Amino acid sequence: GRADWLARALGRAGVMPRVSAEEAIRAGRVEVDGRVEVEPFAPVGPGRVVRVDGRECSLDARLWVLMFHKPAGPVVHGSDPEGVGTVFERLRAVLPESLQGYEWYAVGRLDRDTTGLLLFTNDERFVRHGTAPETHLPKRYVARVEGRPGGVALQRLREGVALEDGLTRPAEARLREVEVVELTLTEGRHHQVKRMLAAVGHPVVTLHREAVGRVVLDVPEGMFRVLRDEEVSEGL
Ligand code: URA
Repeated sequence: GRADWLARALGRAGVMPRVSAEEAIRAGRVEVDGRVEVEPFAPVGPGRVVRVDGRECSLDARLWVLMFHKPAGPVVHGSDPEGVGTVFERLRAVLPESLQGYEWYAVGRLDRDTTGLLLFTNDERFVRHGTAPETHLPKRYVARVEGRPGGVALQRLREGVALEDGLTRPAEARLREVEVVELTLTEGRHHQVKRMLAAVGHPVVTLHREAVGRVVLDVPEGMFRVLRDEEVSEGL
């Protein structure tokens, strides 16, 4: 464990979501080492004894990583001004009680209309690992496109496409069906797949992500599963 502020430590440890923890602390329901603590931002280090409603809670958070099969529709944002629903709400709707207490963070983003593999974690440090440009974690996408991409278009996707924010890194690209391209990227810029395919003359019709690192999506749409420790340590 490491020092953190009390409400966030409770969220990390899966005792309750951070926002609920802030309320519980302000309401005087939380004790640290036998004294009521009403300040959500009070620092707590390892080894403190924390009780909520008199019940002792462990603040040792384990790292959880979940795979979620994102349907088309919800946004990967905390805020939802258009009221279309968020992936966080969709995930919570299928999580068991034992996983409801955690604060869940999405590892990277998918567009609203993109389906497929989205990883979630309770640890922000893992979000940084998964999204840092230098990690170069391969992400495999399948895109149905307009037109019929030929060898020249595929070669351009492989070698690098000049986008307004610079040349893309070398990628793997192949045709799965006449209008279906499999593209594996080791970077993740905003709308990258859509922009690359549009740039080579084949705008995306539908987009699906089927793998991140060695983790391949294997749950039905709208469902999740917990990744095993070795999938996290060796696959990501
Ligand atoms: N590239 C895109 O254009 N959209 C996504 O959702 C993911 C990658």
